[in-house]
Amino acid sequence: MQYISTNGIHQTDLVNAINQGIAPDGRLYVPEVLPRFSPSKLQGESLTEIAVEILKPFFAGSFLEDSLITLCEDAFNFSIPLEELERGKLSVLELFHGPTAAFKDVGARFLAAVMERSFEKTGFNDKRPLTILVATSGDTGGAVASAFHGRSGIRVAILFPRGQVSPRQKHQLTCWDGNITAYEVNGTFDQCQALVKSAFSDECILKEHRLSAANSINLGRLLPQTVYHAAASMWHWRKHGSPASFIVPTGNLGNALACIWARAMGLPIGEIVLSTNSNQVIPDFLSTGQWQPRHSIQTLASAMDVGDPSNMERLFNLIPDFSELRGSIEAYPIDDAAIRKQIADDFVNRGKIWCPHTATGFRAYDQLPLKRRKAATWIVAATAHPAKFENIVENAIGEIVEIPESLQNLLTLPTRYQQLEPKITSLRNEL
Ligand SMILES: *Cc1c(COP(=O)(O)O)cnc(C)c1O
Repeated sequence: MQYISTNGIHQTDLVNAINQGIAPDGRLYVPEVLPRFSPSKLQGESLTEIAVEILKPFFAGSFLEDSLITLCEDAFNFSIPLEELERGKLSVLELFHGPTAAFKDVGARFLAAVMERSFEKTGFNDKRPLTILVATSGDTGGAVASAFHGRSGIRVAILFPRGQVSPRQKHQLTCWDGNITAYEVNGTFDQCQALVKSAFSDECILKEHRLSAANSINLGRLLPQTVYHAAASMWHWRKHGSPASFIVPTGNLGNALACIWARAMGLPIGEIVLSTNSNQVIPDFLSTGQWQPRHSIQTLASAMDVGDPSNMERLFNLIPDFSELRGSIEAYPIDDAAIRKQIADDFVNRGKIWCPHTATGFRAYDQLPLKRRKAATWIVAATAHPAKFENIVENAIGEIVEIPESLQNLLTLPTRYQQLEPKITSLRNEL
């Protein structure tokens, strides 16, 4: 399998596409063709077995092809249960049982496993250490740090904005040692991102380091996300003999695009509904036909505060025709008041506690016409554990949210981090 940039100019293999993160001209890589599966021919039952089966064609011809089973066992080392809430009508796919309690653990762990393995196989002919730079406003940095911690040949530098992450998030960013270093940047998230961007074109830094990015546009994060959509759809199909429809809370469109790819690959997925927060660039596009990226605004579902979702480029590449695109997905914006209300209501009515992101998904479900809710089984993706957003959630339900063990373990570790000015000269000195 080869990978091409969305403008068709650059072509490369899987490992190169993953290690580069982005094509030389700034475009994103997509598979030259999506593989096709037939549900009745798929055999895997467990998450790991399905992972190997689904990802195999993507690894065809790569020097990591023989390592695929090991990579999948490494990355999918926690459960992703599909829990039925209303028999034959509504289920929740719990993506938050990983080490940092958000779905980003899946992609980050797979990416880290691939990078480490490719370093072990080829890395020794380059003396410069591989350094991953991540700017984070919360969830991504923790997942990446946890996934890369202790892996050989790779260092990670995390840049987070001072005063803009919650205390619990900050703890998850700063509780690492060894190959992970966290920097508290005296600036905004945008400044952190700009700093990372300028490092990639800084000759002094590039002389000493091989740089890579671990953000959500990396194929190494996207591909494993197709796996749990595939697995959930197969588990449902084998039990009920019908495709399930999916609702995916959406920011940068990484999770939802993986679901759309899985359906395009022949998996038994019916409708796909995206829920956004008040950053409603995708819902607006689907209703007007005008693609108008904008600055993001802050909402309660902060990990979805994206005004210019990068993966839209890949969706346009998959479905260039607007009316076809509009026929294949829907998207609904859910504002902060509705998020709060959904968390409070579902605590009472469904006996469930959602994080603010997951709440947008259930809100989108509840506002579908009854006829459509009845016409299929719907699976809502739960993207994070509510204990990560305890301020908002505990306020809405009036109770303390229990912290899962994995998260609790991190929160008891000592923290360490360094201060950084948002200047390229400061970053040069630190690296
Ligand atoms: C990142 C994130 C999202 C948004 O996912 P995208 O792939 O960016 O669309 C939703 N919920 C949580 C908890 C997240 O961390």
